[in-house]
Amino acid sequence: MPYRAPVAELRFVLDHVVGFDRVAATEMFAEATPETVDAILSEAGRMSEEVLAPLQRPGDLHPAHLENGVVRTSPGFAEGFRAVADGGWLGMSADPEFGGMGLPITLTMAVNEMMGSACLSLQLNPLMTQGQIEALEAHASDEMKALYIPKLISGEWCGTMNLTEPQAGSDVGALRTKAVPNGDGSYAITGQKIYISWGDNDFSANVCHLVLARLPDGAEGTRGISLFMVPKRIPDADGNPGAANDLRVVSLEHKMGLHGSPTAVMQYDGAQGWLVGEPHKGMAAMFTMMNNARLGVGVQGLSVAEAAMQHAIGYALERRQGRTHEGDGTILDHADVRRTVLSMKADTFAARAIAFDCAVSLDMAKATGDAAWRARGAFLTPIAKAFGTDTGIKVAGDGIQVHGGMGFIEETGAAQYLRDVRVTAIYEGTNGIQAMDLVGRKLADGGAAAFALLDEVSAFDHSDLRGAADDLRALTEWMVAQEMQDRFAGAVSYLNAFARVLGALHHLRAAEADGDRAPLARFAVNRMLPEARAEMAKARTGAEELFAVSNGVIAA
Ligand SMILES: Cc1cc2nc3c(=O)[nH]c(=O)nc-3n(C[C@H](O)[C@H](O)[C@H](O)COP(=O)(O)OP(=O)(O)OC[C@H]3O[C@@H](n4cnc5c(N)ncnc54)[C@H](O)[C@@H]3O)c2cc1C
Repeated sequence: MPYRAPVAELRFVLDHVVGFDRVAATEMFAEATPETVDAILSEAGRMSEEVLAPLQRPGDLHPAHLENGVVRTSPGFAEGFRAVADGGWLGMSADPEFGGMGLPITLTMAVNEMMGSACLSLQLNPLMTQGQIEALEAHASDEMKALYIPKLISGEWCGTMNLTEPQAGSDVGALRTKAVPNGDGSYAITGQKIYISWGDNDFSANVCHLVLARLPDGAEGTRGISLFMVPKRIPDADGNPGAANDLRVVSLEHKMGLHGSPTAVMQYDGAQGWLVGEPHKGMAAMFTMMNNARLGVGVQGLSVAEAAMQHAIGYALERRQGRTHEGDGTILDHADVRRTVLSMKADTFAARAIAFDCAVSLDMAKATGDAAWRARGAFLTPIAKAFGTDTGIKVAGDGIQVHGGMGFIEETGAAQYLRDVRVTAIYEGTNGIQAMDLVGRKLADGGAAAFALLDEVSAFDHSDLRGAADDLRALTEWMVAQEMQDRFAGAVSYLNAFARVLGALHHLRAAEADGDRAPLARFAVNRMLPEARAEMAKARTGAEELFAVSNGVIAA
């Protein structure tokens, strides 16, 4: 079944669940009128269905590969990327001063969802480029902005982010890449970066690498890291790509999925780079890119959930097997298949609502400068990332189950969704690290942001939901009082409980706006909200029991 962009569903969630009208009512985003939103969703939906979705299988079957040191991308990807760039989708939320559209990040996420459903491995390139534009807008000098941002927006050039090194994965502070001043305002960058998504391609005139490196006087750890722009081709006086820089793709990884995205080992041998932002403040600058990328990766998970769900439902509506209790005799009329499909649907809805609710907070924070919106967005970001990607993995797995044996056969395409989406729980900070961020940094306010969200939940008149919100409030108070190690031991469960409670709230809001949605909301409250209770019990158990099982016993 071909992918169909869920334009009406996106519109419903924006209008009736996450209150996008508040964003459109701000002066900054006054152009995001209902008509504009409709035009954007339909146009991006059409492109995703017609141009990007046909690239999904070719990208899997014909991975990006290295040919005499040059990256060759999968068939059709160059044209696909051009369609994304020409549609203006790279610079949707970028500053109009540089050629962007200045639209809310919420709309960018809606467009990204559709592009990711259609072809995740290609969509990863726009996601990286969008993140780079944002980081440059926030931290680059005016000269660098004027040189790079228009070309990134037009898609003439693409952007990457280079954090990871063999010994520095989650522990970014352990990086060894060096930056030495050249004496002319530029720096010589030397080191190796691994797993760099879209580290090179054969369709953009330049590839702009944002690279984390340490200056000679940089302290150990994350405090001594600076951020550099290191272009593949050094721009000449007119801003055109000039001499080749001293960097190269050493190899491309052979991956479980996401084959269309070239994941590169990059070698920098004294490559010329330019400082972005302040010396030693690279982590903060990179976080600008990573925060939205985190939400963006959550949306990637959601996008695969939507596509895998559509695919499975299409199959279930055709496959006949055994006698069914009622209906027209397809497997969708077996109670267990129906349960599976409904849980796919309920989780996908919840992941979408949580992601867009987070995006609305980020937009409101930007438009109003209000610290409460900022804290709300910051609290929701790790939840949107982890729950969105866990949902993508779970729904893609369920999609295979719905297909039965055909799910395990590559030709149906069901397996590709699971292979592609699996990495989303790993990159942009593993989901475990997201959960630790939630119970660590995001509770550093004593729980204020969490309590404010729970107030919103409790304001909804539903006894089960209010009960769960009360328990979550008590758990939050308990968390805030614990040592970090005990918080971390329960972090994933705390995040899951929050996602379940927020998901139920969004389902109930949807049912209030549209009575036809009440049965799915009831399913979510009866079958998914109870999971919050089990997660809350796990979240309180602390670290002691984990370490009571010795390494010796684990390894035995
Ligand atoms: C396909 C792909 C694309 C990628 N794209 C990019 C890219 O474009 N740019 C880039 O810079 N990087 C990229 N990465 C790297 C990615 O961000 C890292 O793989 C990720 O951050 C995890 O680091 P690691 O692989 O070294 O795992 P490790 O850090 O070794 O983690 C291993 C396990 O230990 C856990 N762990 C580690 N530290 C802690 C801790 N302090 N507390 C609790 N648990 C911990 C992790 O959660 C994980 O389960 C990509 C990776 C892949 C696979």
